[in-house]
Amino acid sequence: MSAEGGATLEQVVTALCEHESFVMVSHVKPDGDTLGAGLALGLGLKQLGKRVAYFQQDPVPRNLRFLPDAGAVRREFGTLPERTMFCFFDMSDVARAGPFLPPFDPARSLNVDHHLGNTRFAALNYILETEASTGTVVLRILQALGTAMTPQIAECILTTVMTDTGAFMHSNTTPDVLRTSARLMEAGADKERITREIFANKRFSAQRLMGEALARMRFDQEAGVVWTAVDAQMLAQCEADAEDTEDIVQQLRVIDGCKVAVLFKAVEPGEVRVSLRSNGEVNVQCVAAHLGGGGHFRAAGCTFEGALDGAVTAIAEALRAEGVAAKMPAVPV
Ligand code: AMP
Ligand code: MN
Ligand code: MN
Repeated sequence: MSAEGGATLEQVVTALCEHESFVMVSHVKPDGDTLGAGLALGLGLKQLGKRVAYFQQDPVPRNLRFLPDAGAVRREFGTLPERTMFCFFDMSDVARAGPFLPPFDPARSLNVDHHLGNTRFAALNYILETEASTGTVVLRILQALGTAMTPQIAECILTTVMTDTGAFMHSNTTPDVLRTSARLMEAGADKERITREIFANKRFSAQRLMGEALARMRFDQEAGVVWTAVDAQMLAQCEADAEDTEDIVQQLRVIDGCKVAVLFKAVEPGEVRVSLRSNGEVNVQCVAAHLGGGGHFRAAGCTFEGALDGAVTAIAEALRAEGVAAKMPAVPV
């Protein structure tokens, strides 16, 4: 075991070599990191003749369907071999896999992640908090396994990097990340294509929803908090769906004077999903943790059980507890 109670790279490689059957698990509301990381390791293990299945509770988002093996992602499987190993990607807790996760043997589980405060829920936990994406943690595993870097694997991993760095704009874009990305491009990852598929492929309805959300946003300039909300009615009016909410919080964060951006998504009855972004002063992972959520210093989320008003009040309280005295009165929808 390493210093933080995690597994060593050698232990991970040994366990992967000892198993023949795997299920790669990505988190609910999947993004390019959770999916790309699982696909990359899955493709690598297939090179070694292993049997690989991919579990994801939610459908593959439209903008990730170009990824190799994305068509093999399932919510349900037939019977799995007895010694199947479950590998979890980009989730700080197993609950993020969703309630439809098939039963698995906890003794044969691997947790690969880069989140702060990962609960280390698996038998083997390989968590590198300083990595920009879970995909680059997988890259280390693949290098230790000695699998070939194919254009397909390179494309999956570059997708994880571009997702979690906001196409190389976020502060986690280190010189190392750029060097790794250059090598992935040289190995055949098509950066143009990833940019087009993930970042320049917005549906008309998504942009209409963006307009509605921005029209309703509020700004407590003293506290530096910008927030807005979308609800089911707004989605219906714009002919949009939950996937179309993805980019809204980023557009709040880029406003001059914004320290914390908050998007409230009251799309499903009885729950509000909250997305938090920080410009680097406030640790939004701590804010989300007050409501049972998690994430990173600059990007975190949580799910609030209840109505929109309650979610806004609860976030205002959590922000106050973290030293941000925001007045967040009226719900803007
Ligand atoms: P999002 O705002 O949904 O893009 O999520 C931002 C970050 O917060 C990601 O790293 C997520 O994995 C994490 N996150 C979002 N929602 C939750 C949640 N309910 N519990 C734990 N982590 C979350
Ligand atoms: Mn993720
Ligand atoms: Mn990630």
